[in-house]
Amino acid sequence: MLILMEPSASPDQVREILDLLEASGIRGQVNESPGSLSIVAPHASQALKPDRIEPMAGVRRVVPITSPFKLASADSATARTVVEVRGVPIGGGTLALAAGPCGVESRDQLFTIARYVAESGVKLLRAGAFKPRTSPYSFQGLGEEGLRLLEEVREEFGLGIVTEATEVETFDAVERSADMIQIGARNMQNFALLRRAGRSGKPVLLKRGPAATLEEWLYAAEYILGEGNRKVVLCERGIRTWSDHARNTLDVSVVPAAKALTHLPVMVDPSHATGRRDLVIPCGLAGVAAGADGLLVETHCHPEKALSDGPQALLPSDFMRLASLAQGVHRAIQAPTPAGLWM
Ligand code: PEP
Ligand code: MN
Repeated sequence: MLILMEPSASPDQVREILDLLEASGIRGQVNESPGSLSIVAPHASQALKPDRIEPMAGVRRVVPITSPFKLASADSATARTVVEVRGVPIGGGTLALAAGPCGVESRDQLFTIARYVAESGVKLLRAGAFKPRTSPYSFQGLGEEGLRLLEEVREEFGLGIVTEATEVETFDAVERSADMIQIGARNMQNFALLRRAGRSGKPVLLKRGPAATLEEWLYAAEYILGEGNRKVVLCERGIRTWSDHARNTLDVSVVPAAKALTHLPVMVDPSHATGRRDLVIPCGLAGVAAGADGLLVETHCHPEKALSDGPQALLPSDFMRLASLAQGVHRAIQAPTPAGLWM
C-alpha cells in the first residue's frame, strides 16, 4: 500500500506508522519530494487493513498498490523519480547524455576522449574498468587501475563517472569510484549483485537483459529498490531477436511501455542495441522520440584501435551531431501534446 501523509506530518507521526508496519514484519520506505510525503509498504494490505492506518495522525489517505511491482510501479509513488548523478538530473523533463568508451584502456585513451566529452558540454562519462566479456580471452578491463584513472578524469574535467560493477567481490571498489553504478545486461538477474546495489547510496543504472521481458526487468529493479536504494535508472540496450543485421534489436516500444508502468527514468543505449556505428544515431534518436530520459553512447577517438566494442563507437564529431539532434527531438516531444499521448 501507499500511505499518503500530510506534507506537514511530523517525524514522530511517520515513525509511529513505520513501527506499526514493522510489527507486522513490513519495512516501509519513506519518500519525500517537494510538497509530498509518503510511505510505501509492499504487501502491507495482506497484514493491515487501510482503515487501521487511515485514522492515524498525519495520514491523509491509503491507496492500494495493485501492480506486482510494489516499489517500481507508477502507482507506488506520488511523482516520477528524478535521479541526480553528480548534479545531472536523469528524468524530470531534461535529456541526460552520458558518453565515453566501452572500456578504460589507458590514461591517454581515457583523457583524450574525456576531454572531447567535457568540451561537448556532456557532464557524464561512461567507461568500464571491469568488463563483462563474452569470451574469457577478450580484454577484461583494467580493473582497479581503471577506477583510479576514472577518478583522475573526474578530478580533471568535473565529469560524473558511470562505470560497471560486474561482481559482488569488487563492488565496494567500484562503488567508491563511481558516481553511478552500472549493472550490465548479463547481470540483470544476478540477484546478489542487485541486492548489493540496493544497499548502496549511489545511483544505479540497470540495463535490460538481452532476453528479458519488461516484467523481468522491473522485478530486477524491485530487488534494488527493496534494499532501500530509490536511485534506479532503467536502460534499454537491445534484445536478442532473429534479426542478424545488427548485434541486438533496439526495443523502441519498451520505452513508453516501461514509462507507463514505472516511476523510474528510462535511458536508451543505442550502441549495444545495434553494435554498428551507422545505426547508432538513428536508433538513439528513435529512443529519444519514444520518450527516453537520456542516452548512453559509446564514443572513442580511435575506434579501430579500441580493445572492446570499436565497431559501435562514435567518433566525437558524430557524437556531437547525435547530441544536438537528440536535444532537438527531445524539445519537440516536450511540447504540449494532447492528453493520452505517450508522454
Ligand atoms: C557496456 O555498457 O559496455 C556493456 C557491457 O553493456 P551491456 O551490459 O548492455 O552489454
Ligand atoms: Mn561496450
